[in-house]
Amino acid sequence: MNQRWYDRWLPRSARSVAWLAIVIVLAISFLDLIGWMLDIAPLKSIKPEWTSMKAVTAVCLALSALGLALLQKGPSGILNRRVLQVPGILVGLAGLLTLVFYAVALITGQEPALAGAPVLNLFLAPATRMALLTAILFLLVGCVLVLLATGDRRAADIAHALMVPGSVASYLVPVSYLLGVQSLHEWLNVPMALNTGIAFCALGVAIFCVRPDTWLMAVLAGDHAGGAMARRLLPGLLLIPLVIGWLRLYGERAGAFTSEVGVALVAVAYTVCFMGLVWLSARSVNRTDEKRRAAERAVQDSERRYRSLFSGMTEGFALHEILCDAKGQPCDYRFLEINPAFERLTGLKREGVIGKVVSQVLPNDDPIWVLKYGEVALTGQSVHFEHYSTPLKHHYEVFAYCPAPRQFAVLFMDITERKWAEEALREARDHLEIRVTERTAELQRANRALQEEIAERRRAEEGVKAERQRLYDVLETLPAYVVLLSADYHVPFANRFFRERFGESHGRRCFEYLFHRAEPCEVCETYCVMKTRAPHHWEWTGPDGRHYDISDFPFTDTDGSALILEMGIDITERTRAEAELRRHQEHLEELVKERTAEIENRNVRLAAEVAERRRAEEAVKIGAAELARSNKDLEQFAYVASHDLQEPLRMVTGFVELLEKECRGALTAEACTYISYAVDGARRMRTLIDDLLTYSRVTTRGGQVEAMRSEEILEEALAALHFAIQEAGATVTHGPLPTVRADATQLAQVFQNLVGNAVKFRGAEPPRVHVEARREEGHWLFSVRDNGIGIDPEFRDRIFLIFQRLHTRREYPGTGIGLALCKKIVERHGGRLWVESEPGRGSTFFFTLPA
Ligand code: ADP
Repeated sequence: MNQRWYDRWLPRSARSVAWLAIVIVLAISFLDLIGWMLDIAPLKSIKPEWTSMKAVTAVCLALSALGLALLQKGPSGILNRRVLQVPGILVGLAGLLTLVFYAVALITGQEPALAGAPVLNLFLAPATRMALLTAILFLLVGCVLVLLATGDRRAADIAHALMVPGSVASYLVPVSYLLGVQSLHEWLNVPMALNTGIAFCALGVAIFCVRPDTWLMAVLAGDHAGGAMARRLLPGLLLIPLVIGWLRLYGERAGAFTSEVGVALVAVAYTVCFMGLVWLSARSVNRTDEKRRAAERAVQDSERRYRSLFSGMTEGFALHEILCDAKGQPCDYRFLEINPAFERLTGLKREGVIGKVVSQVLPNDDPIWVLKYGEVALTGQSVHFEHYSTPLKHHYEVFAYCPAPRQFAVLFMDITERKWAEEALREARDHLEIRVTERTAELQRANRALQEEIAERRRAEEGVKAERQRLYDVLETLPAYVVLLSADYHVPFANRFFRERFGESHGRRCFEYLFHRAEPCEVCETYCVMKTRAPHHWEWTGPDGRHYDISDFPFTDTDGSALILEMGIDITERTRAEAELRRHQEHLEELVKERTAEIENRNVRLAAEVAERRRAEEAVKIGAAELARSNKDLEQFAYVASHDLQEPLRMVTGFVELLEKECRGALTAEACTYISYAVDGARRMRTLIDDLLTYSRVTTRGGQVEAMRSEEILEEALAALHFAIQEAGATVTHGPLPTVRADATQLAQVFQNLVGNAVKFRGAEPPRVHVEARREEGHWLFSVRDNGIGIDPEFRDRIFLIFQRLHTRREYPGTGIGLALCKKIVERHGGRLWVESEPGRGSTFFFTLPA
């Protein structure tokens, strides 16, 4: 039978149909209630002359629809089955109560009084009461709803069985309205409204569709051929009689034909229509049957194909049924089917396996497999594994799956040979791996050695490279040119000096780019090396006009070709310098000659001068010796004179003093004065002679020169001058004084004379004398500074001469020997004595002593 849209849609969409019907019922009842509340007649009755749906009917219909909606949703939470039954009970009670009223009225012949019950009066009063048919249908619907709410399948079957007459009665109402047969919906003179009838039809559809699994609906809503055919015939069956009936009534009422003719026509029309329906159904069944047969043939073909596959396949196949113990755990399995490959692969025979359990067939098999296959059969999960069967002594690759509950099928193949091959392969691979490892180790050793060698070679190469670079750098920085010349006059190498002087060759031959010639130079001697293969040395003037000292050497290139190594040193400057030098030399030689002549002349003059000077020196020597002798004589004379003069002077003095004493009364005053003059002169003379003797004794009677502390010597001198210092109120100070080598007596004489003079030649202020000494280059410099009268610079040298004085004896006593004596003593010690002074500003006497 051809599948139509509703055939495909209905079985699956029974719930949707139920919802649609519920919505229709709710809509009709709510429209009616609105009509009552707002008094809109068309909402209450479709036509004004038709009876209207009562409000109680609308409420019960809504309740029924609500009950069905709850059933459709199913029990949940507080909506348990008992609660689901409540709408059915209410609707049933309403129907029952109304029926009771109708019964009482029918039996008693009068309406029951409802004055005491205003609530009941609301829906049981004759004007508001529902129709008798409506009440019967509500009682039925209530029962049906209660039964459906139980959820029980059998109760649902009963409910649908009850609903069949209810649905017929409901269908009767719109049919009777359509055909205008009022008696069909008007029972006990109370008609049922058309909208009520339609709502009941929809309610019936909803009730059937809420449970599509009942005996009735299972056929109609099922996806079998019967269900499809029933759904196909149903619209025709419902509509065709209606249409035919309506046509007959219309024809008869219009007087088109008589009742008998009408009956005949109806019979014929039904026959034709049902024949048509039968034919359509038969054709549909035939088509379905054809399809089924084709499907069966296909199944048979497929069966054959699979059977041949099953028998011919090389993989073993077995279908088993799993057996469980009391706890439901798999404990064994039974062989249901095996293929020939199974027998071949396992060696087990069909008759020894089929219907037997594995514990019989393979008693030594591992029980783990029962559990494993049991899991497949019970959970439906496929497994794929490789397994070694101990009892069968073979390796199998197994794929087990669950084709039906508590069954499992095993598809397997013998992989023993593959396993052996794999084993052999594994062994070979292991062996190979060992070999590879050994070889790898060997290779690594060799590699290391190679790497070391490479590193060594690289180092060597780098060394060579560095050496080459160094050589190249040397060549590049040489202040001479180095070039390699090939036999065909090309320049394979030229150092920087050459390039800077003559430019790059750019592949040109030497004579081309150096001299812009087409032929080699005739004067070039370089290429004679090619013939002689012996070094050659010559001089060359380059294109830059400079002179070069050229050395050519035969040279063999790395590829064995003969080259010339040429080295050129720029000797232009040297040549120039040499020429200059030559000129200078010549000039010098001339000069030397001139100077030699001059020197010879001078030598002659110098020789004469030298002779003259020698003569003068001789004369000086003679004079000095003469002077020394005369000095000595003079000293001798001074000593003798002073010493020998003392005795006669003493005599003169003694006798003049005696004469003065003896003749003091007898002589005249004038004579006495003369005598006193004589005495005074004699005394002075004596003093002079003493002084002279002292002076001469400085050299003749000098003491030993030895180291001494000069400070002590000064202290001695100051002690000797004590009275003079005190008398003059003088202050004598001194700085640190050194140890010197001197004649102690003579040094004391120097200090005594210098300090004594400083005190003696004082000015208006009390004398302040300071003595100090400081170290100078090779000697000690002593100084005696005073604040006395000072000395005129004019007399700076004179005062050091013997008996030279600047004052009279009356002004300052003294003989003028002191400073001369000091000078002689200092000079005797190898020193010097001098004075720095200004009149009125004091004097400073300096003397030096060797350090
Ligand atoms: P005299 O002290 O016996 O005169 P000196 O030979 O000691 O002999 O001195 C020579 C002269 O040098 C002195 O007569 C004096 O005029 C001068 N004279 C020496 N020392 C000083 C001095 N400190 N201040 C000024 N005049 C001096």
